[in-house]
Amino acid sequence: MADICPKCGLPLDICACEALEKEEAVRIKVYTTKMKFGKLVTIVEGLSSEDMAKTAKELKRKLACGGTAKDNHIVLQGDHKAKVRGVLAKLGYNEKNIDVW
Ligand SMILES: [Zn+2]
Repeated sequence: MADICPKCGLPLDICACEALEKEEAVRIKVYTTKMKFGKLVTIVEGLSSEDMAKTAKELKRKLACGGTAKDNHIVLQGDHKAKVRGVLAKLGYNEKNIDVW
């Protein structure tokens, strides 16, 4: 006898609530900001800590720029807003969860 999900009433093995919540939780925010001396950087926020280092490395490689991953966000040197979404999508992130500001 399968357990029933309290949320949707379906047996737990076919219930999608948890997966939906997970997807909902992943919202990635991409924006540019000016650093000291007027240097523009692109910030990528909202990645899980397990994914950060790997994703930062891929972004730097694909965008051919420098950058760092720290405190829940990635800082990329230069303005890469136009390209970050495409690169993240290729890495397996859902494009509809990526907000480019
Ligand atoms: Zn459910």
